Amino acid sequence: MRVLLACCLWLSAFAPAAHAAQVERIEPANWWIGMRHDRVELLVHGEGIAATTPRLSHAGVAIVDVQKTDNPNYLFVTVQVAGNAKPGAFDIDFIEAGRIAATHSWRLDAREPGSAQRRGFDARDAIYLVTPDRFANGDPSNDSVAGMKEAANRADPNGRHGGDIAGIRKQLDYIAGMGFTQLWPTPLLENDQPAYSYHGYAITDLYRTDPRMGSNEDFVALSREAKAKGIGIVMDIVLNHIGSGHWWMRDLPAKDWINRPDEYVETNHRRTAIQDPHAAPEDRARFVEGWFVKAMPDLNQRNPQLARYLIQNTLWWIETAGLSGIREDTFGYADTRFLSDWAKAVLDEYPGFSMVGEEWSNNPAVVAHWQRGKANPDGHVPHMPSMMDFPVHVALRDALLRPEGWDGGWMPLYEMLANDFLYPDPGRLVVFAENHDTSRLFAHLDGDLGLWKVAMAYLATVRGTPQFFYGSEVLLRGPRERSDGLLRADMPGGWAGDAADAFAGTGLAAAQREAQAYIRALFTWRKRTPLLHDGALTHYTPADGVYVYFRHAGTAAATGPSVMVALNRTDAPVTVPLARFAPFVRTGMRARGALDGVEVDLGDTLVVPAKAATLLELP
Ligand code: CA
Repeated sequence: MRVLLACCLWLSAFAPAAHAAQVERIEPANWWIGMRHDRVELLVHGEGIAATTPRLSHAGVAIVDVQKTDNPNYLFVTVQVAGNAKPGAFDIDFIEAGRIAATHSWRLDAREPGSAQRRGFDARDAIYLVTPDRFANGDPSNDSVAGMKEAANRADPNGRHGGDIAGIRKQLDYIAGMGFTQLWPTPLLENDQPAYSYHGYAITDLYRTDPRMGSNEDFVALSREAKAKGIGIVMDIVLNHIGSGHWWMRDLPAKDWINRPDEYVETNHRRTAIQDPHAAPEDRARFVEGWFVKAMPDLNQRNPQLARYLIQNTLWWIETAGLSGIREDTFGYADTRFLSDWAKAVLDEYPGFSMVGEEWSNNPAVVAHWQRGKANPDGHVPHMPSMMDFPVHVALRDALLRPEGWDGGWMPLYEMLANDFLYPDPGRLVVFAENHDTSRLFAHLDGDLGLWKVAMAYLATVRGTPQFFYGSEVLLRGPRERSDGLLRADMPGGWAGDAADAFAGTGLAAAQREAQAYIRALFTWRKRTPLLHDGALTHYTPADGVYVYFRHAGTAAATGPSVMVALNRTDAPVTVPLARFAPFVRTGMRARGALDGVEVDLGDTLVVPAKAATLLELP
C-alpha cells in the first residue's frame, strides 16, 4: 500500500498538467434525430476544459466547430446530427496533450411521431393559470429538500408552501371538467434562491425541474397525462434573466454573458423606449440591459453563444415535455433582435406551435409591435403568434369601475377593442381579467359577484384565447393593491386538512359554489361553441349601461347563426330595444339561453337583469 501511494505521488508530480481538465456538465445533455435545428452547440463546463480538444465517434454525428471564451472552464462544441444518425448514448472524449483528459456521455434520441406538426393553443382553447407552489401539495415529502437554500414555511405568504407537480397531476380532471384545455404553470424550473423562490422566475438551472416541484420525469408525466385529458401544457419561459443563484454566476461562461456585470443597474421599466422614435439611446439601453431586480441578473442575448443556448433550451423543453405552447416572461426586456431570432427558430421547428409574450403595457400600439405580421417603422420583424392583451385587461377593469358617462361605463372597453386594427391578428391575443402579478378582479370589484360574472362572461365570449387565474372560481380575493404572496394564495383543498376543498366542492360558501358553477358552465359552453372560437365579432356602442355584441359566421350575419352577448353593468334591469341589432335579431326569433338552455321568443325588446350577462344562441 505504501509503495502504491508513493508511486501515485511520484506520477502526479510529473504529470503534464498540474490539474487535468474535467467535465462537470454538457448542455443540452441530449438531442434528437430529424430536427430542423440539427447543428447543436454544446456548452461544456469543467475546470480547464478549454485546453482540450473534443473527439467523438458515432455514426451520423460530427464535430463541426469548437469555440472558446475568455473563461478557460468552457468550451462550445457544435455537433452536426445527420438525419440517418443512430439513436443511443455515446462518449465525447476531451483530449489534452495526446491523452484523454475527460470523458462525458451524450445521447441522441428518436423524436415522437408528429412532433414537428404539433398544434399549439389558439382561440379554441381556454388557459388555466396556476402558481404551482400554491395550487396543490401532492407530495409533502418534497416540501423541503436537503441542500436547497429555502425550506417550506406555509405560514409565510412569501415563503414556499409545498405545492408541486404531483398536486397538479391529481387535479387534471378538475381542470378539464371546468372547461379548460390548456394549463399554464408559472415556472417549474430550479430556483435555488434564499428567498421568494416559490414564484419561479429566478431560475438557477435552465435544464432542471426544481426538486421541490418534482423531477424532469414528473414534468413529462404531467404533460402526458394532461394531453390524455385534452389539456395542453403552456410552459413559462424566461429569456430575460436568471436567478442570482444560477451556477453560471459562480463561473460566468464569458464576461459579457450578463449585462452590466460590474455595477448593479436596474431597468427603468420604460418599455416604450423600444418603439419611441425620440427615445434617448441611454434610456433604451437601460431598459434592456438593466437588471429586473438584484436577485435576477440580466442576460446579454447579444452574446451569440448565449443566444443559441437559450434557443436550444426552448426547443429542448418543447421536444422533451411535449409542450403545446409557451408563455414568455418580460418580453420586451430582452434584446430585440434576439427575440425575433428566438421566436423564428421555434416556429421554423414547429410551424403550428403557439407562443404568447408578456408585454405589460396598456398601449395596444406597443403590444402590437411584437405580434407576427406587424410591419414596424423601425424594421423590427416580430414572430410571436400571440401576445397577452394587457390593454383589454386594464380597460375591462376600468369599464366595471368607472361611473356611467361619456368616457365612463363600458366606453373604455368598447373603445379599446376598436384598437384591434393595430394588430395583425387580434384573434390570437390572450385575454384575461387578472394573472399572478395583478391583483384579482374580485378585489377590485369589492366582492361584487354580479359584476364579476359579467366580466367572466366577457372573457369567455370576446375574441382571443381566455386565460383564467386559479382560485378565482371559488372567489379567492386577495388585496386590492399588489401583494404577490397574498395574491397567490393557497387553493382551498390543495393541502391535507384544508377546511374547504374547491376540487371536491366541499366546505365552500354559497357564493363560492355559485361562482364555481358559473365558470364551469361558461367555459364548458365556450369549449363546444365554435362561433366563440373563430366567429367574427360585431359590437354596438354601449347604451344605458348595456354592452351588446355578437359572435357570428363571416360578415353576412343575417343569414347565419350567432351568439348574442348583452352585458348589464348597472344595478337595475335594463330594457334593451332590439331593432338596432336587426341583422342578427329578428322579431319572433326563438333564442336559446346559452347556459341554461331555456328557449325564449324574442320580441321588440330584451330585459337584461341587473349586473348580469345575458348569453343567447340565435338561429
Ligand atoms: Ca410538496
